[in-house]
Amino acid sequence: MTTATPRAMIALAMDSLTEIARQVSNCTDCPLNKTRTNTVPGDGPETASIMIIGEAPGYNEDQQGRPFVGAAGRLLDQLLRSIDMKREEVFITNTVKCRPINNRDPLLDETAACKKYLDRQINLISPQVIVTLGRYALSAFMPNAKISNVRGIAQNVNNQIVFPIYHPAAALRQNKFRQIISEDMQKLSTLLNSKGDPGPDDNDPKSQQLSMF
Ligand code: SF4
Repeated sequence: MTTATPRAMIALAMDSLTEIARQVSNCTDCPLNKTRTNTVPGDGPETASIMIIGEAPGYNEDQQGRPFVGAAGRLLDQLLRSIDMKREEVFITNTVKCRPINNRDPLLDETAACKKYLDRQINLISPQVIVTLGRYALSAFMPNAKISNVRGIAQNVNNQIVFPIYHPAAALRQNKFRQIISEDMQKLSTLLNSKGDPGPDDNDPKSQQLSMF
């Protein structure tokens, strides 16, 4: 997280998820505003201990203005239930708040234009753990990381714990990813129960990764 100036701290104190959603609904800061049906700012409580960040809204999300309402969303709900969590307890959003046409990847300048909203949401919620879904959301925090190398391993990014997993849509396309995501969710549960400290594991050199950033 960034260190806020006094002026920024006053602005932050007056900020709210509702205000961010209102600004997003009027936003024309990147070309995605021209093709959206609805903006999709994100859903969930400001007190959430987990913030889940995906890539971008898809067709169903664009139609309904809510994140993860399609098949991938239903799988995400199942995965949350597998660690005794409900969707209502987590905040879910995307790196961009408007749907890229034909579900293409967001462009770098679109993500950059939208980052201010994501940063404000993170500052307000101050989650214990940010869970990134897929390589694109991961790249917003660790541009050079390869998801196959870091998934399921807690990362310290600017003093924020980031826990990358594969995108649920990958599990819908290939069954092998479902098992991997399920296993990573159990690791996430262990991480949450340890209050964000994964602890050393002498048998797993990858577990040292948290201290590398
Ligand atoms: S994607 Fe983000 S920056 Fe682009 S128009 Fe939508 S809210 Fe604005």
